[in-house]
Amino acid sequence: MLNKLFIKDLNVRNKKVLVRVDYNVPLDEDGNITDDTRIRATLPTINYLLDEGAKVILASHLGRPRGERIPGLSLRPLVKRLNRLLDKDIVFVEDCIGEKVKKIIDAMKPQDVVLLENLRFHIEEKNNDPEFAKALASLCDVFIQDAFGCCHRSHASIVGINKFVPISGAGFLIKKELDYLEKAINKPLRPVVAVLGGAKISDKIKIVKNLAERVDKIIIGGAMAFTFLKAQGHDIGKSLVEDDMIEEVRSILKKAEASGKKFYLPVDFVVAERFDADAETKVVTFQEIPVNWYGLDIGPASTTLFMEATNNAKTILWNGPMGAFEMDAFSRGTYAMVETVAKSHALTIVGGGDTDVALHKAGETYSVSYISTGGGAFLKLLEGSELPGIAALTGKKEYKEKAQVATTPR
Ligand code: AMP
Repeated sequence: MLNKLFIKDLNVRNKKVLVRVDYNVPLDEDGNITDDTRIRATLPTINYLLDEGAKVILASHLGRPRGERIPGLSLRPLVKRLNRLLDKDIVFVEDCIGEKVKKIIDAMKPQDVVLLENLRFHIEEKNNDPEFAKALASLCDVFIQDAFGCCHRSHASIVGINKFVPISGAGFLIKKELDYLEKAINKPLRPVVAVLGGAKISDKIKIVKNLAERVDKIIIGGAMAFTFLKAQGHDIGKSLVEDDMIEEVRSILKKAEASGKKFYLPVDFVVAERFDADAETKVVTFQEIPVNWYGLDIGPASTTLFMEATNNAKTILWNGPMGAFEMDAFSRGTYAMVETVAKSHALTIVGGGDTDVALHKAGETYSVSYISTGGGAFLKLLEGSELPGIAALTGKKEYKEKAQVATTPR
C-alpha cells in the first residue's frame, strides 16, 4: 500500500528527519501522563532513525488549544517519559517553527532527538496553512508520517507539509496499522466477522455498508441494534433509535438478504426502567421490550448467539460496545464480547476508544492480535474512505513522483 514510501525504503542516514507523531496523551492535573501507549507506539520509528544516525525532530499536537499558547497543553511534560523510553536525553524546543527553532535543529548531531512544542499553539496547523506547512518542512530533509490517529485530519503537519518536503514517507506505526487493516478487509482469511456496536447507527452507517460488501457476517450490538429492530417492525420501548435512518437500514438488510450476507441482531436485552445505574432491570426477548423501558445491554442469549457466530471466524474486526457498558449493570454483553474476541484463534483487530477501554479494563489487551491506535482514522478506513494524511503521502501522483525522484536508493 505504501509503495516504496515506507521509512525503510528511504535514505534517512544522518538526515534531519521530522516525524509527525500522535502524542495527544492523557495528562492528569499535575501534568503526569496517565497512559503512554501512544508514545510507545512511536518507538520503533524513532529507534530505527537513531540506528540510522538520523537527527530526529518530533512534532505533535496535544489537546485543543485553538491557536493559543496554553501552558497546560505544552508537550514539555513528555520529555521525562521520552528520556526514559529512549534511554537518552532529548531536547525540548519552545516552539515548532521560526528562526530559534531552526538554529537549534541546525546544531543537532546524528542521533540527537528534539521534541517541538504543541503544533496547535499555531492556529495555522489546523487550517492546513501553506506558509506554516512550508515553515515546518524547512526544518527537515525528510518527513516521516507516523501519527496514524491524526491521518483523517487535513492539517498542515498531516497534509500540507508533504508538498514542501523533498522526501516524505511513512513510519512503522502507519505501516502496521495499514497492514492489519489490509489483512482484515482487503485480503482477509475467511470467514471474516465484523462486530459493530455503539450508540449511533448514523455515525457508522458507511461502515456497515462498506463491510456488508466485504465481510461474511456482521454482528450488530449496542444501541445501534434498535434502529435495525425497528426497521424490521419490532417495538423497542424507549431504547435509543434513529428514525431517520430506518429506511436506509431497511435497504441494507434487504440487500444483505438478497446476497446471502448474514446480519446477527440481538435476540434479548437487559432493559431498565430508567437510564440509570441503579434502575430496576430485567432480561427480556427482543419481542418483549416493555413500552416505557430502555434496552441498555444485550442479553445472555444474544451473547451466546454472537459467540457462536464468531466460532469459526478466521478474522474478527470489532468496534463499539454492546451496551451502555460504563454502568456495571449494562456492561456484561460488552465484557462477554471481550472474552469471545480474546479467546478466539482468529486474527482479531479491535479499534475505537470505548472498545479499547473495555479491553484494558478486562486486562485483555494482550489477547487480541491488534488494537488500532487511531479512533477516527480507524473508523474512516473501515468506511473504505481515504485518509488525507495517507493520500498526501501515497495517493496523489505529484507527491509520489516527487518522493520517488528524491529518494536516493540505499
Ligand atoms: P460510539 O461512540 O458510537 O461507539 O458509542 C459508544 C457509546 O454507546 C457508549 O458510551 C455506550 O454507553 C453507548 N451505548 C451502547 N449501547 C447503548 C444502549 N443500548 N443504550 C444507550 N447507550 C448505549
